[in-house]
Amino acid sequence: MIYQGVIHRYGHLLDLPTHSKTISLLEGNTPLIPMPRLGRELACELCVKFEGLNPTGSFKDRGMTAAISEAVGRGAETVICASTGNTAASAAAYAARAGLRAIVLIPEGKVAIGKLAGAVAYGAEVIQVQGSFDDALSLVVEITQKTPIALVNSINPFRIEGQKTAAFEICDDLSGAPDLLCLPVGNAGNITSYWTGFKQYQKGLPQVLGVQAAGAAPLVLGHAVEKPETIATAIRIGRPARGEQALEAAQESNGKIIAVSDEEILSAQKVLAGEGIWVEPASAAGLAGLIAETGKGRRPERVEGSLDAKGKRVVLVCTGHGLKDPAIVTESFESPKVIPATYDALVSVIS
Ligand SMILES: *Cc1c(COP(=O)(O)O)cnc(C)c1O
Repeated sequence: MIYQGVIHRYGHLLDLPTHSKTISLLEGNTPLIPMPRLGRELACELCVKFEGLNPTGSFKDRGMTAAISEAVGRGAETVICASTGNTAASAAAYAARAGLRAIVLIPEGKVAIGKLAGAVAYGAEVIQVQGSFDDALSLVVEITQKTPIALVNSINPFRIEGQKTAAFEICDDLSGAPDLLCLPVGNAGNITSYWTGFKQYQKGLPQVLGVQAAGAAPLVLGHAVEKPETIATAIRIGRPARGEQALEAAQESNGKIIAVSDEEILSAQKVLAGEGIWVEPASAAGLAGLIAETGKGRRPERVEGSLDAKGKRVVLVCTGHGLKDPAIVTESFESPKVIPATYDALVSVIS
């Protein structure tokens, strides 16, 4: 049967109201890519769930199809979200598909160029807020309480419903849940979705390793971070809307939430690219966390209480595509060599 998107495939398992009218860009059905070489290095059976291959380049599309389908069915004409970038691009695309007006609020100057370009290309009205993502989210919540504009951030429960489908797909592909699932944590909608999804699907439960950036690690510190800072802009969030649920997922699964430095994130991004998988910085946090936990990275030996991945089936959730944030790469490389258009010049430069 021709693939028709996550609501078509898993709708019977999603708690969506009957008034929903499906709006889809055939999101989901992303590959679970085996990583044999890196797996050998880390002494585990490793796969990447490459969510960067969704229609707008991140996992946000799984939840957005559900949120927009519900909003359309209810007769909403305008949707709004606060975003570190990927939610904006996704909301803009699905609103365009549905013929809705989309307004997106982003923190001024803190959104990767590929995401901003996406939101603009899909025709959203983009507004920069002089503040953080958390400030933008407060504004969006307030306006949707006072007007009929529909909120499509992940505090919208239908976003969580749609995002559960990634857990279902992993279980279907592996014929059961993995032993360990590693993923970045920002506003904590995704970790909540995975954990809810695994519990509902009843094909086994993974340990969950949630990874925050050290400069934006409220769940590790145990308190909100007023001025979150990290190069991983997608997880640059100081007051996660679903923080409690993220902590529950970590605890119930016998996993944990840890923080890694920006250096560890960028180094993990390079490792993945070296395996042919280019992800945006936030998406490399899962691997950075796995490396930190298993002691194969900069942190020399396994510390007491760290997770053991040895011989286990591990899935890294790579949440967004590297093309979303090209500047993080281009700003730090030397521009390519220039040669005259002659054979000799080519031979001399490559030998
Ligand atoms: C949104 C996003 C995250 C964080 O997901 P949360 O649900 O906010 O925890 C991580 N990576 C990418 C690429 C994202 O777009």
